[in-house]
Amino acid sequence: MNCLICRQPITEVITWNSLFTLSSRNIEPQICRQCNEKLEPITGEQCRICSRPFSKLEPKFRKQDLCNDCFNWEHNPEWQGLLTQNISVFHYNNFLKDLLAQFKFRGDHELVNIFTEPIQTKFKQTFDQKKPTIIIPVPLSIERQYERGFNQAQSLASLLSQQPIEEILERSHTEKQSKKNRSERLLTASPFHLKPDINPAQYKSKNLLIIDDIYTTGTTLRQIAKVLQPLSPNSIKSLTLARS
Ligand SMILES: [Zn+2]
Ligand SMILES: [Zn+2]
Repeated sequence: MNCLICRQPITEVITWNSLFTLSSRNIEPQICRQCNEKLEPITGEQCRICSRPFSKLEPKFRKQDLCNDCFNWEHNPEWQGLLTQNISVFHYNNFLKDLLAQFKFRGDHELVNIFTEPIQTKFKQTFDQKKPTIIIPVPLSIERQYERGFNQAQSLASLLSQQPIEEILERSHTEKQSKKNRSERLLTASPFHLKPDINPAQYKSKNLLIIDDIYTTGTTLRQIAKVLQPLSPNSIKSLTLARS
C-alpha cells in the first residue's frame, strides 16, 4: 500500500488511537506517518458551539465558553440557537488546505479515504450512538457539481454510511461566497431550500447532522439550519473536516 498523499510505500501502521480514544480497527492505513503528522487534530479547550480552539484565539476574542463570532450569532435573534454545535476534526493548516484543493478542485476523489477513520472516530466520540442521526451533506449547486464532477460534502458524508444519509437540500447557483465579505454574505438571501418532494414528518424530533468540508464563518451551516428548523428536529448540529 502506498500513501495516498505522497505516494511513498507505507512502512509503519499509524494508529489513530494516539489521537482519539476510539478507533475503528478494520480500516487499512491510507497515509504514511510523515503525512499523518502534518494533519493537526483539534484538541484542547474549544468554543462550545463551533469548536474553534481557544489556543489559537486571542483572549479578547473569547466570551466565556464561546468565541466572539458564536457570541454574536447567539445574540442575534435571527440566528440564535439554530446551530447548537459544530464539530471539526482538523485545523485548516496549509497541508490540509493543499490536500483539500487536490481533492475538490483537481478531482482526486480517492483522497476522501484518508478521512474515513478520523471522521468515523470523531462521530462515534461526539454523537450519541443510541439515537439515530440523519446525515445531511451540504449540497452544491447543479452548475458547480457539474463543473467539479462530484460534491466533496457528499463524499465525506458517505464515510458515515452506517447512518442514514439524506440529500434533502438543494442549492441555487450564486456568486462564489469567497468573493464577498462577511456582511455581504449575510445580506444575501440563503441559497438553500428543501427539495420539494420530502416528507417533513420524517424529520420531526430527529437528530440532524450537516456535513461539510470546512467551517469558516459558520454562515453556510446556519443558513442550512434555518432551512431545517421548520422540520422540528430534536437537534441540528454539524460535522466538518476542517476548522479554519
Ligand atoms: Zn505520505
Ligand atoms: Zn465559536
